[in-house]
Amino acid sequence: MTVPQIAQPTSALERINVMQPWIGEEESRAISEVVASGWVAQGPKTAAFEQAFAARQGVAHAVATSSCTTALHLALIVAGVKAGDDVIVPSFSFIATANAPTYVGAHPVFADVEGATGNVTVQTLDRALTVATTAVIVVDQGGVPVDLAPIRLWCDNHGLKLIEDAACAAGSTYNGEPVGRGADVSTWSFHPRKLLTTGEGGMLTTNNETWAKRARTLREHAMGVSAAERHSALVAPAECYAEVGYNFRMTDLQAAMGLVQLGKLDQMVARRRRLTGTYRAALAEVEGLRLVADPVHGTSNFQSCWLELLPEYPLDREQLLAHLGALGISARRGIMAAHLQPAYAHANSGELSVTERLTLNTLILPLYHQLTEEDQQRVIDALVNPGS
Ligand SMILES: *Cc1c(COP(=O)(O)O)cnc(C)c1O
Repeated sequence: MTVPQIAQPTSALERINVMQPWIGEEESRAISEVVASGWVAQGPKTAAFEQAFAARQGVAHAVATSSCTTALHLALIVAGVKAGDDVIVPSFSFIATANAPTYVGAHPVFADVEGATGNVTVQTLDRALTVATTAVIVVDQGGVPVDLAPIRLWCDNHGLKLIEDAACAAGSTYNGEPVGRGADVSTWSFHPRKLLTTGEGGMLTTNNETWAKRARTLREHAMGVSAAERHSALVAPAECYAEVGYNFRMTDLQAAMGLVQLGKLDQMVARRRRLTGTYRAALAEVEGLRLVADPVHGTSNFQSCWLELLPEYPLDREQLLAHLGALGISARRGIMAAHLQPAYAHANSGELSVTERLTLNTLILPLYHQLTEEDQQRVIDALVNPGS
């Protein structure tokens, strides 16, 4: 496989980004074809992208949306979550995971995560259970698959709906299969910070035909007849709006790009796993650094290649970020914790000690498809020699 190279560094301090999408000519051509076709809004390309995505993930239905956030919003509605309900979510996640229950008038209740994976477990969920809990949102954080089977069992025992926020996890596997298949409904992101990108965009997947149908209608103003159907008919059928819907549609411009990107997913995952392996080998002997790893139950796409700094490392997280920055390397603070944000200062949560340890002591390393060996070596040298 040939890897398209970005411009070679002209000086030792040329900037290394934390992330770059892998997009090029093929995506441009696909978008141009849609422009030339004259149909740019949600239409045949979106339908084709949905079909291809469902096939890739091994699920019956895929519904394209404007983002993972809007897909999560729809997931909660179709799962029947109502105002006043409690929904257990990890605090250790991008803010959208906590915002989604809030959109339907429900309350996010924060569960802690386990240190090894950054994901919730039955034990951490159980501590957050209340009499008002109706659903759980689990996250495959940074691409690391959540251990879903025991959580599925626990949700079934308590009569809870199980939603999987797989925003980061296209290409990750659980027990040898694509993630996202074991939940009642799963959601995906195509923001450029993830592996697959359509600029902005998302997807909802489910094996529940009724839910898929309702999500498909709700994302399009809850129109009884889709815009694509109306416009392809010479005499358009009358519209009917049975409930209040939303405009959460993806465009065919985005879907055309998504189809090309989906075709590259296996290459992207393979490359990221190889690069993560290089980091792992190089950092194995460095005291005080712990790199995220595959759990026993699956494989990560390493959407976020994070590193935990332990007390033995000579620098703390902020010092290491500054050290890397001085060398032209743009790393990032680790995954955020929603309960520490003003927006959720008054939310319900139990003890979140692991979440707080991880969010304060982790850092995300540069990792992207086009990252060259030379640039990766610069990052490794900076981590191995924190005093230089
Ligand atoms: C990125 C992300 C989202 C939001 O995705 P958008 O497509 O930007 O709305 C939601 N949840 C998690 C876990 C994410 O990482």
